[in-house]
Amino acid sequence: MKPANPAQAGWRADEWLAGEQARGPICVLSDLDGTLLEYADWPDEVLPSPRLIGMLNRLHDTLDGAFAIVSGRGMRSLDVLLRGFIGIRAALHGAEMRHPGLDLGEPAADLRPLSAGARRVLHDYLLTMPQLHLEDKGACAALHHDLPGPDADRVERELARLLAPNRELQVFQGRKIIEIRPSAANKGAAAQRILARPAFANRLPVCLGDDVTDIDLLDAVKAAGGVAIAVGPRLSAHADFCLPSVAAAVRWLSTLQAVQEIARREQDGT
Ligand SMILES: [Mg+2]
Repeated sequence: MKPANPAQAGWRADEWLAGEQARGPICVLSDLDGTLLEYADWPDEVLPSPRLIGMLNRLHDTLDGAFAIVSGRGMRSLDVLLRGFIGIRAALHGAEMRHPGLDLGEPAADLRPLSAGARRVLHDYLLTMPQLHLEDKGACAALHHDLPGPDADRVERELARLLAPNRELQVFQGRKIIEIRPSAANKGAAAQRILARPAFANRLPVCLGDDVTDIDLLDAVKAAGGVAIAVGPRLSAHADFCLPSVAAAVRWLSTLQAVQEIARREQDGT
């Protein structure tokens, strides 16, 4: 049975850390905003601390490279934000992937910029809704807002209707954000591509996410026999465990890194 209260469920994730699976071969896929980084009103207003980047790099090294960040942000934004991070970064919900020094092959999805027609729809709509702030990510777009739930629902419905002629596009509502993206760009497909890489083979996949676009990621990892962790309350019904906050998720990953490091040293006899 799923725990009703994620705050009370945190100890179950900690209990997993004390078990055998956490000491065995694992790989980790994690969302960024709202999972490892607190949300800000505007994506440029938040920066990871050097300490967080350092912890992510240690995890990457301990897992022999089997660690990826999978984000809805554009690659340019991720490159700035994750400066110094040495692992795989997947941008635009996994449509574009990059790894320093590694060729990750062709993009998974059609990365053509949004069509002129779709852009016109968005710009015309923004004239009627000045509370929305457009983030143009090339192949995707995000509308940031601080609207109450019913108003955000209405915007999502109206945009889905207005963009319906662009059949390849999907409209999603996340936390303080409405996303427009090609249907081929989703974190589940990204997870499958990442898990097929040699560095991730024969490892138990573990993933973390907080928002609607992470459901595909959690489902893909569970389908691969892995462990899905929800950060905050939104995805608790889709997860094996819940962690109550970004701070708890960062602490949990840090402990996982230490557990893996100890197991590795024991195995090496060092
Ligand atoms: Mg998120």
